[in-house]
Amino acid sequence: MKIAMIGTGYVGLVSGVCFSDFGHDVVCVDKDLRKIEMLEAGKVPIYEPGLDVLMAKNVEAGRLSFTLDLQQAIDGADAVFIAVGTPTRRGDGHADLTYVMAAAEEIAKAAKDYVVVVTKSTVPVGTNAQVRDVVAKANPDLDFDVASNPEFLREGAAIDDFMKPDRVVVGVETERAAKVMEDIYRPLYLRDFPILTTDLQSAEMIKYAANAFLATKITFINEIAALCERVGADVKQVSKGMGLDGRIGNKFLHAGPGYGGSCFPKDTKALARIGQDHASPVSLVETVIKVNEDVKRRMIEKLMDLCNGSFNGKRVAVLGVTFKPNTDDMRDAPSLTIVPALIGGGADVRVCDPQGRREGEHLLPGVSWHDDPYSAAAEADLVVFLTEWNEFRALDLPRMAQGMRGRRMADLRNIYSADAAREAGFTVYDSIGRAGFS
Ligand code: NAD
Repeated sequence: MKIAMIGTGYVGLVSGVCFSDFGHDVVCVDKDLRKIEMLEAGKVPIYEPGLDVLMAKNVEAGRLSFTLDLQQAIDGADAVFIAVGTPTRRGDGHADLTYVMAAAEEIAKAAKDYVVVVTKSTVPVGTNAQVRDVVAKANPDLDFDVASNPEFLREGAAIDDFMKPDRVVVGVETERAAKVMEDIYRPLYLRDFPILTTDLQSAEMIKYAANAFLATKITFINEIAALCERVGADVKQVSKGMGLDGRIGNKFLHAGPGYGGSCFPKDTKALARIGQDHASPVSLVETVIKVNEDVKRRMIEKLMDLCNGSFNGKRVAVLGVTFKPNTDDMRDAPSLTIVPALIGGGADVRVCDPQGRREGEHLLPGVSWHDDPYSAAAEADLVVFLTEWNEFRALDLPRMAQGMRGRRMADLRNIYSADAAREAGFTVYDSIGRAGFS
């Protein structure tokens, strides 16, 4: 099969590389000259474990290439995937479909023969029908179908998620489009990964419903964690006891500083708007959005308490600023709320993150960057664990405590325990949903 992939971000690039690894011919298109130049030079513009090696292998095999020129990519393609961003529209919480519709129009103008226009971006119900109308209007003679193929990969584990998915969802209107999509995903189909074929609307809804459900699960345990702190329970034991119930499952039950990232915040907001627009409010999700903001605020209060009521003049080391480990993605990361609060309160903030610096330098003005966690924590009054990178899971805590001025730890990912912190020489320890000491 010949595939054109529009957008070489976290989803487009991973999907393009993995499709080429299935044996398809893939041309990835982006408007961003810097990205295309990097890709053509064999460099990966994002941090995603294993992507560089898989990309090089498929470029070498002649199945994968990159271009700024959509026309060249689409010539002879069986399917063209739209994998551009759908950020939150300013002001109203809706998904901004400007990039999707612009891509649809460009495809219509470039395509000559039958092609399936596949939307991989996360889009509200009705968008694929709108894409169909935009393409038909821009090129009335074009023979084409649309398909919805939402993506469920997780940054940091994207290749594995794409190659071994829990399921692939394909929304179609015609047998012909279904056949093209089946041929594209045949390598997964042959390995028994479930492919669920639905109508367009259901495919679009599955993506939002799944993300909102996961965000709800995280938010649920975050609220339970706050209650655990009040009643003296340990949220780690509580989530273990809950997760062993097969009906609940143990995933997404880790209490933390609130969900962030490029998907949950924007997709929950978009689903809430879809509900409001259709006079069928999804009030549970509206509450999740609000509670998640409360969770982040509570983190700031926690840090304030650890700093004896004022950040002014305190030196604070923040370990981890990306929204989760194994990615350089900073979109809607909790650090973007917490670090500015520290800075605004007059703290001297020192940051260490294995991959976050490139993005973080623009997003977190006023902090100093350190390559290793011990130098970030040197002479600090407080060390805050904000992202659970492997690099931060087995630190020499006595060494860290010794170098600090204040020996206080805010473990907002529950990486360590009160006992470990005490033994290491910390004088104050606080975490999420568990007893600390001071
Ligand atoms: P991204 O911002 O990393 O990448 C989007 C890319 O599209 C950019 O490189 C941009 O330059 C390019 N682009 C925009 N308009 C274009 C055009 N007309 N022609 C060519 N290139 C164009 O976005 P992302 O994180 O990959 O997300 C893409 C979509 O996938 C979103 O809808 C998102 O919700 C969804 N999604 C993301 C993830 C994730 O983990 N990031 C997971 C599942 C689904």
